[in-house]
Amino acid sequence: MKKYYDILNLNTNATQDEIKSAYRNLSKKYHPDINKDKDSENKFKEIKNAYEILTNKSKSPFQSSNNSYYEAKYTNEVKFDFFNDLFTYNDSYPNFSKPPGTDSQIKIEITLEESFNGCRKKIDIDWNDVCNKCNGNKTIDGSPIEACGHCSGNGYTYQRKSIGNNFVGIKQRCFDCQGSKKSSIYDRCTSCNGRGFVKSTKNITIDIPAGTKNEHCLIIKNYGLLSEPYSYRGSLIVNFEIKKHDLFTVEGFSLRLKFPLYWKEALLGGEIEFPTLKGSFKQKFEPFICSGEKVVLPGLGLLDPSSRKTGDFILEFTLETPKIENIQNCAISDVDLYLNKTIVDREKIDKYIKENKK
Ligand SMILES: [Zn+2]
Ligand SMILES: [Zn+2]
Repeated sequence: MKKYYDILNLNTNATQDEIKSAYRNLSKKYHPDINKDKDSENKFKEIKNAYEILTNKSKSPFQSSNNSYYEAKYTNEVKFDFFNDLFTYNDSYPNFSKPPGTDSQIKIEITLEESFNGCRKKIDIDWNDVCNKCNGNKTIDGSPIEACGHCSGNGYTYQRKSIGNNFVGIKQRCFDCQGSKKSSIYDRCTSCNGRGFVKSTKNITIDIPAGTKNEHCLIIKNYGLLSEPYSYRGSLIVNFEIKKHDLFTVEGFSLRLKFPLYWKEALLGGEIEFPTLKGSFKQKFEPFICSGEKVVLPGLGLLDPSSRKTGDFILEFTLETPKIENIQNCAISDVDLYLNKTIVDREKIDKYIKENKK
């Protein structure tokens, strides 16, 4: 921060009035219309930037994501058609008299089940509204900001240049107001700090469609922020993070479940019940099954939204050798007890089946 005070030749404890006055004097000195030195334009920009930062005028940068975008339709409750309307983002607005809004981003954590089945979530999003104290005019008394003194409120200036024996006027954007036509010096509204809008949060409900994955994002138009008090509203970009699952591993569009067998089951064969995201199923298996043997069940994995195909479910059997101390001295009945010793992961699976039975 000290750097910006240095640019304006001020101490770090300078008041807002002193900042304003220093800016006024320096901007006059280095204004490219007045100062013809070749470095004056850069110096002027540096001064203006420092002034804006020290008076909290700088805007938040436009944020965007490189993910693929999907059209979002909304009503009071935000709804959208996730996979059918591919939406290409562009910056064009029908009415250029209104500045574009600022996009905002949010990340939502969802479970694998929520991503598979779709879900409805209530979320708090960043929001801003026109300041009702100054009515968006940014000034302390709510009156409109005066016209820029450098360009007389035109937003541009003319520079005289000689071409051969003639002088021509070259039109250029005003360096002081950046073409906004308004003076950059005014007493700021204390309620919004001269921004013209106040920050808040808004609670909205969104429907997250079935098949949502990490790389997806939703764009909800008009749920972003105002960049200026009466600008358009930007878009809200919702990113997703799917939480790691306790039982299933995601491999592309396939799901894998490691299913631990008791030794007795592995030796004798039998039937087990196993969970999937579409409910539980039964699977028979032959005697003498080995650890790592798999059953691949097509169509029980995750939906691939581009091909509309569903991946596989891989049921992989595992066996853990029970650790029995002094097995030589054990009675057969003890060994039998060990072979049926509870497997923690197996209990987890049984619990999951029970909780997800409809
Ligand atoms: Zn205000
Ligand atoms: Zn101007």
